[in-house]
Amino acid sequence: MIRNDWNLEELRKLYELPLMELISKAHAVHCAYHDVGKVQVCSIISIKTGGCPEDCKYCAQSARYITAIKAEPMMSVEEVLRRAKLAKSQGATRVCLVAAWRSVRNSKQFEDALQMTREVAGLGVEVCCCLGMVDEAQAERLKEAGAYAYSHNLDTSERFYPKIITTRTYQDRLNTLKAIRKAQITVCCGAILGMGEEVEDRLELLRTLSSQRPHPESVPINRLSAIAGTPLEKQPTVSIWEMLRIIAIARITMPKTMVRLSAGRAEMSFEQQALCFFAGVNSIHMGEKLLTVGNSPVDRDREMFQLLGLR
Ligand code: SF4
Repeated sequence: MIRNDWNLEELRKLYELPLMELISKAHAVHCAYHDVGKVQVCSIISIKTGGCPEDCKYCAQSARYITAIKAEPMMSVEEVLRRAKLAKSQGATRVCLVAAWRSVRNSKQFEDALQMTREVAGLGVEVCCCLGMVDEAQAERLKEAGAYAYSHNLDTSERFYPKIITTRTYQDRLNTLKAIRKAQITVCCGAILGMGEEVEDRLELLRTLSSQRPHPESVPINRLSAIAGTPLEKQPTVSIWEMLRIIAIARITMPKTMVRLSAGRAEMSFEQQALCFFAGVNSIHMGEKLLTVGNSPVDRDREMFQLLGLR
């Protein structure tokens, strides 16, 4: 049964279950709603890298921090198309077009992003756009251009959010998600674990996501990659056991959702990733880079798929 009324107490109880019991429950839900042998492969193309005015404390692309990432001009439509074709040939069925913008402005750059969306959608893959905040009219235009999904993470709980980002509010985020829904674009909205938040914040985010009607079609679970030069550069890495618990609770509370194992996968062994698939992950990001951080190489992923019998 799909529920939109999970409360924090229920999520706490799930969290406190012995790990094997928790991931077994999640696996049962996964089996009931999905083909467990099938994993969606998504590819990310950074269409505009760096120089972002926002102050997200985890991000290498914020212009406020001195990191290895330099601001680059927007990628050409031709280059985006070339990369999307390559990703498709490597097995991607979803391509995310990501720009380091605070919000979309009605400009030539937005027209270019719409053109990229049109052309990549024409390849027969799902196009997911991640362009910052949008209003209803802009969401409408993205829909017309063929956007299948829009990615807009809430990252953490509403109470912890101001400790990570001060240049926009949680409500700003929710407003964009509303505009996306109104335009009938599917929603990709997830978490970053390991920014200094408490377990309670992780559960509160899952409660917020699972209270959406309908649930986000896609929930990426990211493990913070502590990037030199950002305020979070010294954050310790979140353990695999914590990742598994959050993945499992996401799967149980949002049965139909695609749960995506995103940043942090490069450092995981095949065994750890296998546990994540068992606990409910059914999508990964492919490519040597996940925006600005390293990702698992494509060949290594192929080997893993073969070893685990995943399709
Ligand atoms: S996460 Fe996005 S909005 Fe925040 S600084 Fe990075 S690129 Fe900008």
